[in-house]
Amino acid sequence: MLTFTKPFTQQEPIPEAGIQQALEILRHGRLHRYNVMGAEISEVSLLEQEYAKWQGARYCVATASGGQAIQLGLRVCGVGPGDRVLANAYTLAPVPGAIHAVGAEPVLVEIDADYHIDLSHLEEMAKRSGAKTLLLSHMRGHIADMEALMAIARAHHIKVVEDCAHTMGAKWQGKRSGNFGDVAAFSTQTYKHMNSGEGGFLTTDDDEMAARAIVHSGSYMLYGRHGTLPPDEVFEKIKLESANFSCRMDNLRATIIRSQMPHLDRNIDRWNQLYDTLFAGLEAIAGVDIPPRKQAEFYVGSSIQFKLKAVSARDIPDFLARCAARGVELKWFGAEKPAAFTSRYDSWQYISDLPDLPATKAALEKTVDMRIPLTFDVADCQIITQIIADEMADYRAPAG
Ligand SMILES: *Cc1c(COP(=O)(O)O)cnc(C)c1O
Repeated sequence: MLTFTKPFTQQEPIPEAGIQQALEILRHGRLHRYNVMGAEISEVSLLEQEYAKWQGARYCVATASGGQAIQLGLRVCGVGPGDRVLANAYTLAPVPGAIHAVGAEPVLVEIDADYHIDLSHLEEMAKRSGAKTLLLSHMRGHIADMEALMAIARAHHIKVVEDCAHTMGAKWQGKRSGNFGDVAAFSTQTYKHMNSGEGGFLTTDDDEMAARAIVHSGSYMLYGRHGTLPPDEVFEKIKLESANFSCRMDNLRATIIRSQMPHLDRNIDRWNQLYDTLFAGLEAIAGVDIPPRKQAEFYVGSSIQFKLKAVSARDIPDFLARCAARGVELKWFGAEKPAAFTSRYDSWQYISDLPDLPATKAALEKTVDMRIPLTFDVADCQIITQIIADEMADYRAPAG
């Protein structure tokens, strides 16, 4: 029987240049971003300059995690205790967690069958809740109609924080995700598009938001050493009223990321080659349904979602177990209990008044999720689809 033997969690090695530079930093010991000699510019500040340039954003602030970048994003949008924050219900735990951490309450918004935030529900919930901030997760790389979304946000005076944990490098109508809202958050945690173990970025074009994010990140009064720097008078205005939340990135992680930056565009092409192979293979299996990428998006296919139409929800755990026995690791977004990185919105029980969101539940009920590490190649993707096709054939067979 055909089996697949590569792990779904193995990333590529850090480029040799990054390993060398990391050793250099370990040898001189200047790991803290503000620990520089003379006119030296720290690795973190260089990374901020390089990422801002690549992203096409004025400012970049490197952080200890993606979740921390989201929290800073909410804070610089003025979100505080008791405020309400709109958020699409299809997302991962750090998103409601970040809202909770700033003392605010999530107002969950439905998604459509293709995994995008439901714009009419967004508008309805904006009116009903009076929320002035939207934390938009481009979950699993599915980008909503951003012009229509921003028009709703503008009409209701809503600030937008884009969570780009899955869309670093993705675009809508040629414009990079992260450059639509007021501020964006990225993650460089191991399973994202660049890998520093933990880490993240906040990007924005707004002087005051950038200055606040820098001071909030824990700049003491050394903000002048940052890689991308708003004018001094902006700091003068905000520095004494912006609390220090200590979530800086360190030079070791920064150098590890810097060594990956030159490969990012090529890696995006590699992901899409794997994704497109899987998409074509899975789409051809009767009983599997993949929402088409009909939107005006340039995606980065670092994971794939599809629906097991021919399998009843009750049988999905069994189907996944059979695939797993043959080495194909799929995760189920419809599961009642959260498992590993996957969880459904109703497992975040610290949210008061958890709503019932039938459209989101229906979209996720049969949705499975597969990670696509760059340690796979096109032939691997063909083996994976073959195994899923074999297993699906049993479920399509008439009962009895
Ligand atoms: C990974 C991730 C984040 C940020 O996670 P960290 O582990 O804190 O870097 C935020 N949102 C989503 C949707 C994610 O998958």
